Amino acid sequence: MLYQLSHDPLAQTFACSANLIHGMLTQTSDYVGMSILAHGCACSRPLSFTPACAGKSQVGDTLRVTKPRISARIGAIAESATLAVDAKAKALKAAGRPVIGFGAGEPDFPTPDYIVEAAVAACRDPKWHRYTPAGGLPELKVAIAEKTLRDSGYKIDPSQVLVTNGGKQALYNAFATLLDPGDEVLLPAPFWTTYPESIALAGGKPVVVMTDESTGYRTSVAQLEEALTPATKALVFVSPSNPTGAVYSPAEVEAIGQWAVEKGLWVITDEIYEHLVYGDAEFSSMPTLVPELADKCIIVNGVAKTYAMTGWRAGWMIGPNDIVKAATNLQSHATSNVANVSQVAALAAVSGDLSAVDEMKVAFNRRRLLITDMLNEVNGITCPLPEGAFYVYPSVKGVLGREINGKLASTSADLATIILDEVEVAVVPGEAFGTPGYIRLSYALGDADLVEGVRRIQTLLK
Ligand code: PMP
Repeated sequence: MLYQLSHDPLAQTFACSANLIHGMLTQTSDYVGMSILAHGCACSRPLSFTPACAGKSQVGDTLRVTKPRISARIGAIAESATLAVDAKAKALKAAGRPVIGFGAGEPDFPTPDYIVEAAVAACRDPKWHRYTPAGGLPELKVAIAEKTLRDSGYKIDPSQVLVTNGGKQALYNAFATLLDPGDEVLLPAPFWTTYPESIALAGGKPVVVMTDESTGYRTSVAQLEEALTPATKALVFVSPSNPTGAVYSPAEVEAIGQWAVEKGLWVITDEIYEHLVYGDAEFSSMPTLVPELADKCIIVNGVAKTYAMTGWRAGWMIGPNDIVKAATNLQSHATSNVANVSQVAALAAVSGDLSAVDEMKVAFNRRRLLITDMLNEVNGITCPLPEGAFYVYPSVKGVLGREINGKLASTSADLATIILDEVEVAVVPGEAFGTPGYIRLSYALGDADLVEGVRRIQTLLK
């Protein structure tokens, strides 16, 4: 076995007897690019070796085997840009700065009382102080199946539900369960920043399908067809979308679903913003419109956005039984059951009515119209009116290349930094969503802050 050696400044060293490596050193003075011939070694991937002794080494010497401190798989994961912006804004705020944050992807309302009360009661009941089934409380799975029928018209059996730590873990489980190394996943951009990381972590390859404001940030069958290869296994579909707020019409959802069936593709459809649609826009669930897709469809959902429960970490995936069983096995070793108190809270949420989200929607709709108007008044910003979720995704291409308070904004990432540094307003640059030249603003913040924040941007960029 031939090892190609490398010098890695992050490498951790540990001793390894050269006696274990039945071979010879072909070069010993410099371990950069050095190779060792060894036979019968159990190691199956390239390692880095550093001679423990100075000068010449020979067979029988003790070698230091150096390995990266962080695995290539995990080392390749980027920090969540949206959480990073939010954390920076919150830290500045905690330090007393009058920061206005448009970064967070969470409702600014408290979780409704009846949900909190159910959780308080659960805290006091020793029954919930113990492990429960890794895949979720049976009564919650039943309630999720009923809620899915009520809200999407999609009939499932409770055994098709896996309760997860938020929609994020549902996505992670879905990709880990579906993908083998090299499998391609079609990913329309702008995309929520977690998708490509989660696909890559599972060994898959995100294949970005670019969209822009000219199509309302919606992709088409023709575009997807162009990106299809023999290695394509799945498509990520999200409507309403984060970061753009785009909502596909029922006809578009059906066309894409039917195309996926024809091509034998899996669809991971993220329905977390299902209840946040405005005006004439209509949410539609792909497997309801295309029932033939059911055997290759995974729905991701959760209580975070609908019931203002981002911090409770309760979500779920729905899929065919073999997938859900395999994903449950994974979760049983990774995290076991979602915290029982959160599951009981989620049970109260999905078993109740939708009055809380209806109230939030009134405020979100008002802010949606206001922020879009105000941003369109800014010289160089073009902001389409979003139809769902609680984000606007304006193009800032008309601002790029300008000097702002003596600082050059070459990219949307530069611009976001300048806006934060100069007027203490946090926005997320489009780079985080695969489309430089844009910024994302969440309008899930109080009306007064919203107006003040956009005024600051208007003043800075006028
Ligand atoms: N999907 C989308 C599109 C999202 O925007 C989010 C949250 N930002 C999630 C899933 C995950 O939500 P959670 O893990 O909080 O349930």
